[in-house]
Amino acid sequence: MAENDTRYAFGIDLGGTKIEIGIVSDKGELIDICLLKTMDGPEAIQEQILSNIAILRRKKGLKIEGVGIGVAGQIHPITGTVIFAPNLKWHNIPLKTIIEQDTGLPISVVNDVRAIMFGEWFYGAGKNEKDLLCIFVGTGIGGAVVSNGRLLTGFSNSFGEVGHMTIDYKGPICTCGKKGCFEALAGGWGIAARAQDMVKEDKQGPASQMLLELSNGSSHKISAKNVIEAYRKNDPMAIGLIQNFQEALIAGLASLINLYNPAKLIIGGGVIDGFPEIFPLIKKGISERALKAATNSYELTLGKLGKGAGVIGAAASIFKQINEGMGEDNNV
Ligand SMILES: [Zn+2]
Repeated sequence: MAENDTRYAFGIDLGGTKIEIGIVSDKGELIDICLLKTMDGPEAIQEQILSNIAILRRKKGLKIEGVGIGVAGQIHPITGTVIFAPNLKWHNIPLKTIIEQDTGLPISVVNDVRAIMFGEWFYGAGKNEKDLLCIFVGTGIGGAVVSNGRLLTGFSNSFGEVGHMTIDYKGPICTCGKKGCFEALAGGWGIAARAQDMVKEDKQGPASQMLLELSNGSSHKISAKNVIEAYRKNDPMAIGLIQNFQEALIAGLASLINLYNPAKLIIGGGVIDGFPEIFPLIKKGISERALKAATNSYELTLGKLGKGAGVIGAAASIFKQINEGMGEDNNV
């Protein structure tokens, strides 16, 4: 195919601390990207997006077909309004309308984990598959499912809240107010909270010393990263914490595999990326815990797109929308 047949779109990963805006080809190549620190308030952020889109458009001089935006939050399926984005503290922001009016381009607004799923599905680890499960373990845990070639959205578009799936109904309290959610046990914030609880129970005794040292003496600042560091130094308390994390993670992933019977389970996110030695343990644990009927031919794999996944995936979502001519009902 001649080079001038290549199509281009903007992919935007809008997060609570940073915004990434990239030009992406319809082959999944990242052509150019700019990284911005997220400003305060919806107006300032919209201005950041619009001005940087204009700069990149002028700089590259490419014909841009649309803009895909991934946002960590719940998106209205018809209007593309961000109903609630906790990290941005946004309620009912009509993001799609605003960007559409200014740029005159087709826009899709999608949940951030679904954006990554689109990227991995069209260009990454899940290419050419019809049944995929993507689970991202970062501060929280998010998920997306492609079943028989369709991204599942649920009745009210809230599909994928796997972080709040109950793993232990008597377990510790989650940020959602319920007990024993997946991310309260296996998410980055959950690992940190369990470590902080244990140090408190130990009354900051000798067993807590390594974790305290790594967090500069502040028990409330112990992070998942500190727990992983201490585990690598064979600290017994951290070994126990990682054992619990690993069991909860395997229990959650095995349950999801039993439910969705994917051809591939793609895992990623900050905790998995920062702890690669966990991968073979997860693989072994899943094969022991999940049903043979679901694991006989499945494959566990890491995401292929790495740090660009959010941007490439957001662009993939707008290419998909344009290709299908779906227009209004693809803001997932
Ligand atoms: Zn929860």
